[in-house]
Amino acid sequence: MQTNGIHSFRAQVEQGTSHRMNAPVSRNDNRGERNNSKAEQPIFTIDFFEDAELLPVLTTYSMRMLAVALVLGVGAFFAAPYIMHGISWAERDALLSGKISCVGWLLGIAGSVVLCCVVHELIHALCFKLFGPVHASVYLGCRFALGICYASAPGIRYRAQDYMCICLAPAIIVSLVCVFIACYTGLWLTFFAIASLHLAACTGDFYMVARIWQYPQISSCEDTAQGMIAYVEDDVCAG
Ligand SMILES: [Zn+2]
Repeated sequence: MQTNGIHSFRAQVEQGTSHRMNAPVSRNDNRGERNNSKAEQPIFTIDFFEDAELLPVLTTYSMRMLAVALVLGVGAFFAAPYIMHGISWAERDALLSGKISCVGWLLGIAGSVVLCCVVHELIHALCFKLFGPVHASVYLGCRFALGICYASAPGIRYRAQDYMCICLAPAIIVSLVCVFIACYTGLWLTFFAIASLHLAACTGDFYMVARIWQYPQISSCEDTAQGMIAYVEDDVCAG
């Protein structure tokens, strides 16, 4: 049922308290330079690799985003030339006339999405460096079994606002670059497909931002190899 995913997603968000105090890292392990003079306690953790309930929820949301994109893309393919005059549909005409093979077009999109994912993680890595201390060590990796690529700066704490910027930067920058290239080349369908597939792969980032956004009292976020740990100051806990 369609609403099940929404309810389970909300449940995941609301279960923030169930993850509280499970953080495996103590304040003494903090290697960051931000907020380390303040006493803080973990309020929740996110573990993309070990939380068995989380990945299916994120996958469901990715599939829904792709379904919406597919409907919009197919609708544009057939209807846009009649209702959106003045826009070049070069790849549509080329596909319909056989100048471009559908298989080749799809392979090109798949390769571009892989490239986007690499750029995505590099943007995360750059942001980890920009917002973090000079000595921050940033790692890039991939879990093929889970289909997850990641960049992490384990042990480094960031201000909550900065961590949300780190999470959202790749989704925003890659999407804007796709829009820019589409404007420049006129390949609207191609780059709409690439941007949609990339955004569907960003649900983990969106999930972290949603969790942080839900708790305005979060003072810092510590990146971990598996996800993140959110902290609040001790006086907030006591209050
Ligand atoms: Zn990401």
